[in-house]
Amino acid sequence: MAVQIITIDGPAGSGKTTVSKALAKRLGWIYVDTGALYRGVAFEVKRTGTDYNNDIALGALLATLSLELATEEGVLRLISSGCDITDQIRTPEISMLASSVSAKPRVRAALLEMQRVIATKNDAVFEGRDMGTVVFPKADHKFFLSADLLTRAKRRHSESAGQSLCEVEKDIAKRDKNDSERKQAPLKAADDAVLIDSTDLTVEEVVSRILHEIGQ
Ligand code: C5P
Repeated sequence: MAVQIITIDGPAGSGKTTVSKALAKRLGWIYVDTGALYRGVAFEVKRTGTDYNNDIALGALLATLSLELATEEGVLRLISSGCDITDQIRTPEISMLASSVSAKPRVRAALLEMQRVIATKNDAVFEGRDMGTVVFPKADHKFFLSADLLTRAKRRHSESAGQSLCEVEKDIAKRDKNDSERKQAPLKAADDAVLIDSTDLTVEEVVSRILHEIGQ
């Protein structure tokens, strides 16, 4: 039987991760955070000092890249060449670097393949920016989450230490702009995605709405 795929796209802080995790748990499916993969590439770019604007250097890095998502006690971990880098990829610097490297066509091509391989084996909820538009255009169900900028910044601020609310808001606005305006697979809703504004909704309300939409 073919696997089933639900895609959830949206900007930072729109609730994608929390909602995707809760939804996958309810359905007994796996959950795939594709942003973690882009963060993993950014982490390796920084660790190796690769000039990602140099196509040859970037190609060489991608050729040796070995990223793997693993679930440990219900927590998604990112493993790069055998090392667990889960805790290192959530810094403001890596967020911004991920947004820059993700605009590179070579990076997107490398991760596209990886994401589709994961999808051959498991029913899954995939969250990201281009899940419904590029990676899984034929997904069974597609959703696009949004929320106003201040609400998204407040959510991220409560999860992260070290940055003021104003700094978080500025970083998110910059990433939104980068991600929406890039040529390759920009952040946007698929034409057939259900749009959900989560500004005034709880996680449970968004999950219920999605379960209702998919007939569960
Ligand atoms: O979702 P998260 O905020 O962890 O993603 C980090 C960055 O990775 C985003 O700002 C975006 O530039 C990139 N990304 C992407 N395509 C995806 C997922 C994330 O370009 N499917």
